[in-house]
Amino acid sequence: MYIDDTIAAIATAPGEGGIGIVRISGKKSLDIADNIFKSVSGKKIKEYNPRTLIYGNILEEEKIIDEVLVAYMKAPYTYTKEDIIEINCHGGFLSVKKILELVLKKGARLAGPGEFTKRAFLNGRIDLSQAEAVIDIIRAKTDLSYNIAQNQLEGNLSSEIRKLRNKVTAILAHIEVSIDFPDEDIEHLTYETLYNKSKELKEDIIKLYETSETGKIMRDGLKTVIVGKPNVGKSSLLNAILKESRAIVTDIPGTTRDVIEEFVSIKGIPLKIIDTAGIRETEDLVEKIGVEKSKEFFEKADLIILVLDASRELSSEDIDILNNIKDKQAIVLINKIDLPSKLDEQKIKEYINKDRVIKISAIQRTGIDKLEDEIASMVYKGDVSQKDSVMITNVRHKDALGKAINSINDAIRSIEDNMPLDFVEVDFKNIWDYLGEVSGDTVSEDLLDTIFRDFCIGK
Ligand code: GDP
Ligand code: ZN
Repeated sequence: MYIDDTIAAIATAPGEGGIGIVRISGKKSLDIADNIFKSVSGKKIKEYNPRTLIYGNILEEEKIIDEVLVAYMKAPYTYTKEDIIEINCHGGFLSVKKILELVLKKGARLAGPGEFTKRAFLNGRIDLSQAEAVIDIIRAKTDLSYNIAQNQLEGNLSSEIRKLRNKVTAILAHIEVSIDFPDEDIEHLTYETLYNKSKELKEDIIKLYETSETGKIMRDGLKTVIVGKPNVGKSSLLNAILKESRAIVTDIPGTTRDVIEEFVSIKGIPLKIIDTAGIRETEDLVEKIGVEKSKEFFEKADLIILVLDASRELSSEDIDILNNIKDKQAIVLINKIDLPSKLDEQKIKEYINKDRVIKISAIQRTGIDKLEDEIASMVYKGDVSQKDSVMITNVRHKDALGKAINSINDAIRSIEDNMPLDFVEVDFKNIWDYLGEVSGDTVSEDLLDTIFRDFCIGK
């Protein structure tokens, strides 16, 4: 695909700041910049070596718009593989806005969300999974999710996919030879070899696919609700967690609407504490909206934390919640163990696995580490080596791998039934295509639009 026009956007976040950056990419970048920029030295940008930071002013009909630094990065060694100009001006709303307007007037087009990154993909600098990693890096909530995204940007997932596709190619070659040179003996050998290779390939794809559960949590956060009767210590628990771990408060406009999300990092896992109207008001979920309504939250949550008060007897309300959470990912916290106990622990263990019943004192901050350990073991299931591991964090990738697995199952069935090799070949071609969806080798224009629509403008 050949991209002809020149795009521009404000690359920095809106608001007051030290500097703002207007970014231009495309064939006309340099001309546009030289048209509106006057360096203090009097020289044109194109007279400088690329990657030099040039001091001067942006002018509109002789009038100074702002004092700026301009950098010219020459194709193809740039973010988009195209000529790029970056104009560093004063931060704030107006300077960047005026400069952008001027750039557009001189022939650039306003870039869509993620369009610079999209060009990096279309121009072949990165593959689609790497492009998607860019937005994940921007949105990462914990060091661990950041590392995973960084890993993906470096191309580790891409190379994993490439390895799988190479295996498919080898299998396809084998099939084709057998189709072209049919021979009884070879045919027998072919089916046996194919069968073993298919099984092997299936294992490999499944292994990657299975990282997606943890991967999704790393990317989007573990949706968590804290429930319990009034005064059992939910607020105190939240404070204790916030103190122990680094709290990350986010409010992503557009993605959350009226929901404010509060993130805490527990052993690198981003916990997204579900909060519909400000956490400190609604954590008394059961109290405020009643048990019925809170069931809805249970359905949406990845993790339910029920807090009980050790110094009070189990009430029918507690039992009701226990009944509701018994088949879910839930942890029961027996709080206030610093007080004399009146709670029937045995009764609780009838509803929930004893490993998931943890005694704590939110006030004295005891047992919080056990809670964190349990959450970590629920998420990692003990088999994730966290560092440098390739992890599927993206639903799109997961779906593509899922389709590849279906096709390989089809292939294996065909081989078992001694179906003609042409049939088997079709299945392997499908696997090849589905794997290619992850890296973007086989994607439609529509899908690309959907993917990049999610990005911020200027990236
Ligand atoms: P919530 O209504 O469930 O959010 O409960 P709060 O966190 O507001 O706590 C209710 C009361 O219980 C407060 O007076 C807390 O100080 C007290 N409390 C919370 N956790 C503990 C604990 O571990 N031990 C003791 N003794 N008191 C606690
Ligand atoms: Zn409270």
